[in-house]
Order: sequence, then structure tokens, then C-alpha cells
Amino acid sequence: MGLSLYDSASRRIVPFEPADPARVRIYTCGPTVYRYAHIGNLRTYLLTDLLIRTLRLLGYGTFTVQNITDMGHMHQEQLEAGEDKVIAAARAAGKPAGEIARFFTEAFFRDCARMAFLPADVYPRASEHVPEMISLVRSLEDRGAVYGADGYLYFDVTKAPGYGIFSGAGLGEAEPAERTDAGIHRHKRRPEDFTLWMPAEPGREYQWESRWGRGWPGWHIECAAMAVKYLGPEFDVHVGGIDLRFPHHENSRAVVATATGKRFATVWMHAAHLLVEGKKMAKSAGNEHTLDDLAADPGGGGHGFSPADFRYYCLTLHYASPMNFTWEGQAAAARALSRLRGAIRRASRGGTSGEGAAAALRAEFCNVVSDDLNMPRALAVVHKAVRSGIGGDVARALAAEWDMVLAIGLLSETDAESETADVGFGAPEGVPDAVAALARERDALRSAGDYAGADALRERIRAAGYDVSDQGMGRGRLRKR
Ligand SMILES: [Zn+2]
Repeated sequence: MGLSLYDSASRRIVPFEPADPARVRIYTCGPTVYRYAHIGNLRTYLLTDLLIRTLRLLGYGTFTVQNITDMGHMHQEQLEAGEDKVIAAARAAGKPAGEIARFFTEAFFRDCARMAFLPADVYPRASEHVPEMISLVRSLEDRGAVYGADGYLYFDVTKAPGYGIFSGAGLGEAEPAERTDAGIHRHKRRPEDFTLWMPAEPGREYQWESRWGRGWPGWHIECAAMAVKYLGPEFDVHVGGIDLRFPHHENSRAVVATATGKRFATVWMHAAHLLVEGKKMAKSAGNEHTLDDLAADPGGGGHGFSPADFRYYCLTLHYASPMNFTWEGQAAAARALSRLRGAIRRASRGGTSGEGAAAALRAEFCNVVSDDLNMPRALAVVHKAVRSGIGGDVARALAAEWDMVLAIGLLSETDAESETADVGFGAPEGVPDAVAALARERDALRSAGDYAGADALRERIRAAGYDVSDQGMGRGRLRKR
């Protein structure tokens, strides 16, 4: 059975037909780097990881881009209020915005590594792509889709083909925008129109020269410009949280479709909300949990939950189902993962058995992940496999193959967090930078099919006191010798 995915734009399950199966192009809306990622953010990014891992299991190649919004105004309310989140955080901390952005970008990469997310091929920073944003606005201007005054530029949504694909909004139905003097709205003709460019207030840290005056770009143009630069005006899959569907995705799509006449993303995937104990996460509610909050035991004493425990918890639900995170649920997931690892360990230490069942189990796993990334059913296949009497090499091979998608340490030697470290991001703790760099270089060579070159690097890594083992997907893991 071929891969099929739910496309939020057409609101139906579609067969996945990438333009180039050897290079499936994927864009994910990334973090605004002014605070730590919470578990809701991580659940959304997990969707991209599961998509990439499933594609690779099925034999596709991937090319993925995730932006870093380092001049942040991710939330429309904030944008309406004209507030840049990164700058606001910097002001509160008494630090330059660039420093805040760098700090939380590093924190984001660390969280990605802890969650075992395969790294994107490119992480473009919004602040480094303003010329691309300006040139995209100019294309819109050439098409007569832009208006404004006093340094404010707006996109005229009536010029966008197919506007309303996500919101279902019929244009012209809304009342004309109220004439107010409130910030960025002041020259808007209709409520759906949105800001492409705003004038910089005096002393603003991030600002750029443009033909419309010194200023800064609106949010929707950021993702549009970066996606087009790295993936072209038409690519395979766009991923993001459901809360970004409107207006962000509606508007990014409108910009690109209007400027280029192309379709932008072929398939749109949205991860559902995560609630905590039935409530929306909010800083004020004190329930914006991070991986560190999960690691710290909520009851005091004991060891808390690992990122793999959280990952397993997420996998027990389909990505499009809202998730209600509870501490009891997390504890149950951690126990289930621990039992599963134990069962696989015992099975793989036994004699080889179950060759006959393996082919059917393998096919079943492929089928369920191909069905719109149905991870709850994939976990059910793993549980079924350990009950079916597989053993020895058969158990090890199946667990290794399935863990390429699930990435929950099925072959972990202990129930505690894996002692091994992914080398995709920066240096894992305790591993010298030079060794991590060699390991990354080796990964790149392996991905490119240069196995002789990769083997030579393995020897250099050994000489430095580390073993590197391959857990599939071309990713080496390091272990001290
Ligand atoms: Zn975006």
C-alpha cells in the first residue's frame, strides 16, 4: 500500500505523489526563539520527524527546511499590537535581541536532539532573509496586490487566487476595516488584508532599508520567502501546528500563489493541539511544560520522564487527534515503554525464532505508518510482535527497523535514557566538538554513499576514543570506548 496523507487544504486523504521521490521537499514552521519550546511545540515538530522517518523507511529521500523566527512576532495578537516577541523578551531581560535569539535557538536544537528529531537540511534565520522578503513584496507590488501609506504595506487578499482555502472565508463578506489609529491597522482596507512591511520605531534593533522606508517585514512573508528560496514556489509538504492554519498558512500561501502563480505546498499537514490536564497551555497558568519540567519529578524525588517517554506518549495518539497531557498519562506511557524495551531485550537475547511471522509483521508496520502516519497502530504492531514469539536476530532486526521510525530506543540496553548520543546537532554532552564534527562528517559521507570515506572517518573517531554505530537513517551514534 502506498503512502497516503490527510491534506488539510483539500480536507481529504490523498495518495502521496511527490514531484521527485528521491528528494521529497518539506517545509515546517519553526520556533520563535524568545523562550524554551514547550511540549505542545515539540509535539508539532514531532509530526515532521515522523513524516521524514516514514518516508525514509518507504525508500524516499527527503530535503527539509525549518525556519527560525529570530525577529519574532509569531502571534497575530502580538503583531496587531506591533510587538516583536524577541525584542520584548530582550527588553525584559536587559539583553540585546540577537543574544536572546541565539540562546533560545541553541536551546531549540538541544530539545530537537533530545527528542531524537532528524535534523532539517536547512534552518534559515528570518533575520538573514530580509532581502528575499523584500523581493517577494516587490513581486506582489508588480502584480498590483499591495497598498499602503506612511511606511505600512498591506497585502490585498482579493488579488490572491483561492484565498479562503483554510478559513473558508468568502471575501467581501466582512465589513470594511474600522478606521482606527491603532498601530498596523491604520491604513487597512479590509480585515483579511495583512501587513507585509512596517516602519521601524526609533532605536529598533532589527530594521532594514527598503524602497518603502526603513522597517521590518510582517510574519507571513517570512515563511513564504524562506520556503520559496530553499524549496521553490511548489513543493511537496508543508507542516505546522493547527493554530497556524489561519491566518498564517492561509496568508503565506496567498503571498506565494499571487507572486509566482504557483501552488506553494501540494499537501498541508497540521498537528492537533496539546492541552495540559484539559487546559490550554499558558505562561500565566504555569502549565507550559518543557522537557526539563518532564525530567524533574513532579512529586519530588525519583527520576522523572525522559524525552523518549514523552515521545512514546505522543505516539499513542494520532497526530491529528488533540492530546490531553496528564501526569498520569505520561507515567503510564513511561511504564509501557519500559515494559516494551524489557520484552524486546529478553526476546533478542533468546534464540532466533519467528522468521515466518517477521515478513507479515514488517508489512503490517509499513501499512499502518503509510496510512497517514498511524503511529498508535504502529505501536500495536510492535506489541503484537513481542507477543508473537519472535526472538534473537529476528527480534533485533525488526526492533532496529521500526525504531528508525519510532525512535524510542526500542533496543536500549537500559530502561533509563539511552547512554548513546545523537550527533546530528552540536556536540552531545561530554563528547569533544572535534569528535562530534567527525561523526557529522561521516554521516554526510554515508548519506552521499561514500562508504569508504565514512569508514576512514570511523577509524579516526575510534582513535579519538569513541565508537560510532549506525542506527539506520544514516545517523551515527557515539559511545565512549
Ligand atoms: Zn510559517
